[in-house]
Amino acid sequence: MSAAVLERTILYIEDDPSSRRLVERMLLHAGYRVLVAECGLEGIDIARREIPDLILTDINLPDLSGRELTTMLRGDERFRTTPIVALTAQGSEERDMTLAAGITGYLTKPVDIDSLSKTVEYYLGGGHDKVETEKMSQARNLYIQEIVRRLEIRIRELESANKALTRLDRIKDTFIQLTAHELRTPLTVVSGYGGLLEATPSIKALMDTDDSAKTVITGLVSSIDRMQNVINEIMTISRIMTNQIDLSIKHVNLKTVIPEVIASFQDATQKRRLTIHFDPTNAPDNMRADIELLRLALNNLIGNAIKYTPDGGSITVSAKIDEETHQARISIKDCGIGISKEEQKTIFERFHTASNTLLHSTSKTAFGGGGLGLGLAVCKGIVAAHSGSIWVESAGRDHEKLPGSEFIMLLPMTTQNPAQGKVWG
Ligand code: ADP
Repeated sequence: MSAAVLERTILYIEDDPSSRRLVERMLLHAGYRVLVAECGLEGIDIARREIPDLILTDINLPDLSGRELTTMLRGDERFRTTPIVALTAQGSEERDMTLAAGITGYLTKPVDIDSLSKTVEYYLGGGHDKVETEKMSQARNLYIQEIVRRLEIRIRELESANKALTRLDRIKDTFIQLTAHELRTPLTVVSGYGGLLEATPSIKALMDTDDSAKTVITGLVSSIDRMQNVINEIMTISRIMTNQIDLSIKHVNLKTVIPEVIASFQDATQKRRLTIHFDPTNAPDNMRADIELLRLALNNLIGNAIKYTPDGGSITVSAKIDEETHQARISIKDCGIGISKEEQKTIFERFHTASNTLLHSTSKTAFGGGGLGLGLAVCKGIVAAHSGSIWVESAGRDHEKLPGSEFIMLLPMTTQNPAQGKVWG
């Protein structure tokens, strides 16, 4: 075994486990460094990362064929001359196609143990199989037809998968809406009885004299209220998500709305020693928008700024007329952990964090307390319904340096009702 052999790296791409084990063992025994991949895409990833000296690939892989994988790699300067050898049991026409795709040569399956390392050395040394010139153009045509046929099949598969997913997505949205609706009806009755209970003179008298009865009854009524708020929130979110927003346009004074929302977080800011600054001087006081939805968006953005800023930090909310667009520009800037450039691309998507249930927390204000990943999607929906725009600016995520994040909303000073266009396509 020469030192040169020892340095050679072979990437072996094969989906059949028993063939994989057998050939891998044979190559290892012959002294090569062997990397294995189970499918074409994995093979391409490993090749780009490790730049092997030779690639040995099965032709029929579950995703890309060995031919397609070769065409992909040959397009990359680093693999122009790398020997790519196909393992195939196919007939001569198929083999010509394989060579037309840019493969250096082929090994016949089942692999002959004795000749494997000799053949590998031949290709590593610059050996190349040839196709007769007159057969080459026919082989190329056949290969192009094969690619187009496979592409068509894949597109059809993707289209039908996409249809099925869209249908499931709609069913899920309807299910959430119906569930919230079904829960709200009996809860309204329970809430009514709760109110009656508190207002009944004999119960009132009991509450005045018996502390434990008072605790039980007020606890019951406030829990019912909380549950109603949660259900109303789900219904609002689901309306926004399903493009069923019917805006109720009213006069909005940002000089007063913003401080109201900030004040609703007073308990949390006190507990966590956070300061929220807001200077109302330049805030527009004559907007026309859906005040409840605007409150919800502000609530989500300020809530997030609280969640992602460590104790003792500060948050600045500002509002003014944007000089360029003449729209209302509302900014929520924190000095928290920040958001990576990668994450900035997806945070406005629905259920951004929902895939990881470990991140879920019922606290809306604890440091790092995660939610369902709906808050920003809801903001995006609300802003889009007002024909505005929302984006984030942050230098990246860093728990030590705390680069902070700034969320900016641009909203027209006047929005027509009903909202134009769909929020999600
Ligand atoms: P969640 O309910 O998870 O907070 P959001 O849609 O409100 O959902 O936010 C999505 C993700 O965006 C969060 O999980 C968090 O990673 C990131 N994020 C949102 N706001 C901030 C912020 N002010 N600072 C840092 N990260 C944030």
